[in-house]
Amino acid sequence: MNEKELYERWVRLVRQLEKNRIIKSERVKKAFLNVPRYKFVSERYRHYAHVDEPLPIPAGQTISAPHMVAIMLELADLKEGMNVLEIGTGSGWNAALIYELVKRDVYTIERIPELVEFAKRNLERAGYKDKVHVILGDGTKGFPPKAPYDRIIVTAGAPKVPEPLIEQLKVGGKLIIPVGNYHLWQELYEVIKLDEKGKTKIINHGGVAFVPLIGEHGWRE
Ligand code: SAM
Repeated sequence: MNEKELYERWVRLVRQLEKNRIIKSERVKKAFLNVPRYKFVSERYRHYAHVDEPLPIPAGQTISAPHMVAIMLELADLKEGMNVLEIGTGSGWNAALIYELVKRDVYTIERIPELVEFAKRNLERAGYKDKVHVILGDGTKGFPPKAPYDRIIVTAGAPKVPEPLIEQLKVGGKLIIPVGNYHLWQELYEVIKLDEKGKTKIINHGGVAFVPLIGEHGWRE
C-alpha cells in the first residue's frame, strides 16, 4: 500500500469515529487528520494502522486504538497554549496529537529506553523533533522541571492515582488516567484538582484496557 492509499484509509477511519460521536470536536478531528497513525508504527504494521485496535510496538508495548486516543483527547479538552505532560510515550503518536492541539512544547515520559529511541525516530520523521520532548524516566513521579501542568494524560493503567501527579497539576487542571487492575482492566478517570491542598473531584468514564503503569507510584515490576 502506498502513502496515498494509507492516508485515504486513515481519513475513512477518522470519518467513522466522527460519525460514531467518538471524535466530537473539529479540533480533535483536525489533529487526527494531521497526524495519521501509520507514521508511528513499524513498517510491517503500517497496513493495519487504520484498523481501530491497539497495535504492537517494540518492547512488548502497544500503540492505543484510535477510538481510545480520541476519547482521552476529547476528555482532556486541550486548548492552545496549555502546558501538557504525557506519561507513557510509546510510539510518540499521542504526544504529536497533543502538540497539534496545544501548539506549544509537549513533554512526554517513557520508562523503556528502546521506546524512547523508537518515539524520537517517529517524531523526527513526522516533523515534531523540537516540539515534543521525550524524557526517559518513571512518569509516576511526574516531571517537576516543567510543572505545574494544565493537563496530565497517562496512557498506562495505574493501581491508584499517583500523588505526585496531583501535586504537579494547576488548580483547575485535569488528569486523565486509567485506574484499576493489573491485568488489562481499568476505569478511565478524569481527575480535576480543586484546590492548592490537592482536593480532587473524580469522574469515572468507565471500562478501558491499558498496559500497566510501572513505577514508584504505580505497579511494581
Ligand atoms: N501513548 C502511546 C502512544 O501514543 O503510542 C501509547 C502508550 S502504551 C499504551 C503505554 C506506555 O507506557 C508503554 O510504552 C510503557 O512502557 C509506558 N509506561 C509504563 N509505565 C511507565 C512509567 N512509570 N513511566 C513512563 N512510561 C511508562
